[in-house]
Order: sequence, then structure tokens, then C-alpha cells
Amino acid sequence: MGWAIALHGGAGDIPVNMPPERRQPREAALRHCLDIGVDALKSQKHALDVVELVVRELENNPNFNAGKGSVLTNAGTVEMEACIMDGNTKRCGAVSGLTTVINPISLSRLVMEKTPHIYLAFDGAEAFAREQGVETINSSHFITPENIERLKQAKEAKRVQIDYSQPIQKDVEKELPAASGGSQLGTVGCVAVDNQGNLAAATSTGGLVNKMVGRIGDTPIIGSGTYANNLCAVSATGKGEAIIRHTVARDVAAVMEFKGLSLKEASAYVVEECVPRGNVGLIAVSASGEVTMPFNTTGMFRACATEDGYSQIGIWTSVE
Ligand code: ASP
Repeated sequence: MGWAIALHGGAGDIPVNMPPERRQPREAALRHCLDIGVDALKSQKHALDVVELVVRELENNPNFNAGKGSVLTNAGTVEMEACIMDGNTKRCGAVSGLTTVINPISLSRLVMEKTPHIYLAFDGAEAFAREQGVETINSSHFITPENIERLKQAKEAKRVQIDYSQPIQKDVEKELPAASGGSQLGTVGCVAVDNQGNLAAATSTGGLVNKMVGRIGDTPIIGSGTYANNLCAVSATGKGEAIIRHTVARDVAAVMEFKGLSLKEASAYVVEECVPRGNVGLIAVSASGEVTMPFNTTGMFRACATEDGYSQIGIWTSVE
């Protein structure tokens, strides 16, 4: 059994002709964050510490839709969310509606470790952040000119109106707003198994650009955007409403458990057979050190490495 790690910077309609000045900083960030995670695993850090460390680094990078780079709500405000889960103990913590917390992933870990609860949101989560003394900053720090522009573009773009009062049909999901509003900014996540066999998953996001104030996506919902047990750790990205409906992260674990499929087979089954095209990507590792990063969107910013020397950094072609 060896260690394995994977991380993502979001899946969506990432244009294949993305200009190098937009692509390269993201690829460099993926490489940098992968190196940090690999070093931590090599120095025997627990998988939970590794995923938190890597996601903090991704949150601090404005090229991704989490922490500093979080996209804005339809009111021009920021509402960040995050989730962390420890596979072997099934302990987990989640936060939503954060407006001042610099590293939401670390607050989710504090919810897991310092409260009897799993999920804190909005004012209560902010108050808990103050009480725990985590680093906070005026929310104007997150409202960057780039994200104001992204919101403007999202508002200007013609959107297909969905009548949510109608029964959900499969192809409605094709009509959901693009993840990250087509801005090529993505949610971040990391999954890892250390060489003691500890599995952990972490995901952090600003959500969807132009989302309704108060909207909660898949990221902080255990079993949707984030899940880990003693078989695997999974972090999903894409259109949150579709990911919630299809309980994506938990389904990977369930298919492994109940159908006896391998990590790769289970992940491919969920991404290819269960969720309509254009909606989801995920990263996953198994207790035995397998790694997989399938997606059914145009692309997914992603990177992985395993103890036996395999490593991959990619955006578009699904090489598995
Ligand atoms: N899944 C996220 C959400 O819907 C968005 C993303 O993955 O980029 O909030």
C-alpha cells in the first residue's frame, strides 16, 4: 500500500483554446500544490493534514474559485463554502455562507474537531470563526475587480430560464448555468491516502458566479461534493445542483462497496452513466493507493501523483 494524492481546480466548459496567459498560471499552481501535497505525504503527514494544507494553498491562489478567488453572488457579495472528511473515522465538517474567513477549509476542520455538529452556515459559522480566532479579513478582500467583471459578464449573458417548479428531467441539467459561469475559474479540492491507509477529502468553493444569495451547492454537502470512507476519498466539481441530485461522491463509494467495482470503474460508472454530460468531474483515491480523475465536462484542472512515481497534470484530455 502506498500513498496517493489528487487535486482539482474545477471542471466545466473550459475552452480548449484558452490563452496561455490564462492557462499557465493555473497549471503552475496545480504543480506547486501537488508538490506541497507530495512532500507532506513523503514526510508522513496524515492524509487529513495533507488535504487541508493543499486546499489552503489553492484557496490562497486567486486563479481558482475558492478563498481569495471566490466568485460573487447576484448581489455582488461573497459566500464561501467548504467541507473536509476523514475516511476511516467518517468524521466530517462543513461550512457555508462565509464572508470573511480567509481559509474556509480550516474552519470546516474546526467544525469537525471542536463542535458536536457537522455543518455550520452563515452568521453562526462566522461567529464560530471569531470564537476560534481563525484568520479573517474584511469581505472587500474577496470582491476583486476580476470577480466584479465576471459577475457583470454573467449577468449580461443570456441565460436559459429554468422553471424549477416543473419535475426535473435529465436534460434540464444541460440547461443549468455553467459551473463558474464559464469564467474558467473552478472550485478546488484535494483527496489523499497516506501510507498508513488514512483517507481524506477536502473541497472549497465560492460556488457559482451570480448564484442567488443563500444558495448552497454540492461542495459542503457530505456525499455530494465531498465524501470519504475506508474505501475511498472523493471530491467533485461541476454543476452543484446536478451533483447534489446524483449524490456523486457517495455514489462512487457505494458502487465500490455494493457492486465490488474498483475505484476507477466506480468513478467512471458514476461520471459516465449516472450524471448527464457536461455536469461533473471528480478526483478520487482508494485505500490501496489507486487514483482517478474522470470528468464529463470539456475539461477539469487536475493533478495527481502516487508513491510508485506516476504523476499527471492536465486540463482537457481524460487520460486514465
Ligand atoms: N460545484 C460548485 C458549485 O456548484 C461549482 C464548481 O465546482 O465549480 O457550487
